[in-house]
Amino acid sequence: MTTTYDFDLFVIGGGSGGVRAARMAAARGARVALAEVLGTDGLGGTCVNVGCIPKKLYSYAAHYAESFHESAGFGWEGQAPVLNWATLKANRAQEISRLNGVYLNLLRGSGVTVLNGFAHLESEHAISLATLNADGSPSHQRFTAKHVLLATGGTPHVPHFKGHEHAITSNDIFDLEPFPQRLVVVGGGYIACEFASIFNGLGSQVTQLYRGEQVLRGFDDEVRHFVAAEMLKSGVDLRLNADVLDIQKQTDGLRVELEDGTVLQADAVLYATGRVPNVKDLGLEAVGVAQGKQGAVVVNAQYQTNVPSIYAVGDLTNRVQLTPVALGEAMVVVDALFGPADGKALRQMSYDFIPTAVFTHPNIGTVGFSEEQAREKFGQVRVFRSEFKALKHTLSGSSERTLMKLVVDAQSDRVVGLHMVGAEAGEIVQGFAVAMKAGATKAVFDSTIGIHPTAAEEFVTMREAARD
Ligand code: FAD
Ligand code: NDP
Repeated sequence: MTTTYDFDLFVIGGGSGGVRAARMAAARGARVALAEVLGTDGLGGTCVNVGCIPKKLYSYAAHYAESFHESAGFGWEGQAPVLNWATLKANRAQEISRLNGVYLNLLRGSGVTVLNGFAHLESEHAISLATLNADGSPSHQRFTAKHVLLATGGTPHVPHFKGHEHAITSNDIFDLEPFPQRLVVVGGGYIACEFASIFNGLGSQVTQLYRGEQVLRGFDDEVRHFVAAEMLKSGVDLRLNADVLDIQKQTDGLRVELEDGTVLQADAVLYATGRVPNVKDLGLEAVGVAQGKQGAVVVNAQYQTNVPSIYAVGDLTNRVQLTPVALGEAMVVVDALFGPADGKALRQMSYDFIPTAVFTHPNIGTVGFSEEQAREKFGQVRVFRSEFKALKHTLSGSSERTLMKLVVDAQSDRVVGLHMVGAEAGEIVQGFAVAMKAGATKAVFDSTIGIHPTAAEEFVTMREAARD
């Protein structure tokens, strides 16, 4: 007896992983539906709406402030322009809407049925979709599918403390009104460091509070200290071993009391203290989908859960929370379910040497092991480092410095870690990540001709090990 389903694949969540999987599966001839709770305005998910894209646009906006200031050294005269926050927000919103439309067209163009509503699992092959009617009353539709892909992403997590309701998260910051002249940022991860830098650049007086010894835990120690020093130099009041006791709303803003008794006044307090998987009301328990820490969906190497018809990718699985990782995982699922694209091999996802950038000012770009991790894994390592003032800053008047660092496994000569703090670090490190995936040795780096005059050439001209 054969069972017929409404769809071959039902994707829950229209973010990075969900859209990619839906499009690619439909392109292979599968009958695919995708449900997004925010409707067509939510297509693209966190990255497009409240993540990578608007964040990078605001980072560009903040860099202009430096450029206006630095241009005087190159002979440019006149008053520096002032930021019109309303214009920046409106232009960002317009671009995001355009992207939502692009995603909708891509999905429809591939033949995906795009559904608007909150989806939850009813059984291993059935999904219920809740939508609100024009009069506010709910309506429910039921669909069946041979396979279900969960790609519901994550959501900011704010710890519970007195006055936590006055805190905002990265979801709120893009449309904040009015512009926060005094911003307190809590956290020391990607989001906290990026937004501290961005709002400092845009003109806020930023105080960043991190509970530990140094920001960006898990990154190379030297990189962490270097970027923290640069952020302080640029005007971010970064306070380590600091945490909030309570927040009180007052007539002239927020009163933020720290655990050591210090009191800060702020217009907004941004909590960037991590994200948790979006599992609420997804129906996981009822269907018996196994969950790990913070509710993360547990999957095998093909992203299949313990319920064979149900798969999960992206932030929902709480592993590496990056858009390109969600995209890569989605492709593995599509290949596993519907076969690889014509002439291509079946995809596997590798978590080795994932390059990443933190869009602080200056940027961090990194791939591979930190010096500390490499020492632990490989034993003997050689470290090459270079710290300098970029050519641009010889005239710009800026005191910003650049750090570049290579970590080499002494036994194999393979470059196992590459780190940079400096302008366009993300752009530079992407190319080196290819070489490192290919197993490039320090000898290969040494035999590569530099591009002069660039900062990137430093990676192929470092000859003397700083540490053995
Ligand atoms: P998401 O993109 O979060 O998509 C999940 C979607 O599912 C959402 O649209 C949600 O509305 C929908 N949904 C949830 N529940 C349901 C339901 N029950 N029914 C229907 N729909 C549902 N990564 C980078 O690589 N580079 C960056 O520069 C970067 N910057 C970031 C900046 C910020 C401020 C943030 C918050 C994240 C950033 N990230 C960045 C991380 C990146 O955005 C995520 O890793 C990525 O979006 C994960 O994709 P996903 O498909 O797992 O989930
Ligand atoms: P992270 O996990 O990177 O950082 C969370 C920070 O909050 C850490 O410094 C953590 O401290 C601190 N923290 C956690 N709980 C508390 C608490 N109760 N009180 C005070 N501080 C606390 O999360 P983010 O929210 O910054 O970002 C989520 C993920 O999104 C990132 O990990 C990244 O994968 C992705 N992202 C990627 C970007 C990019 O690629 N450029 C940009 C933005 C996000 P501690 O270290 O001590 O635990």
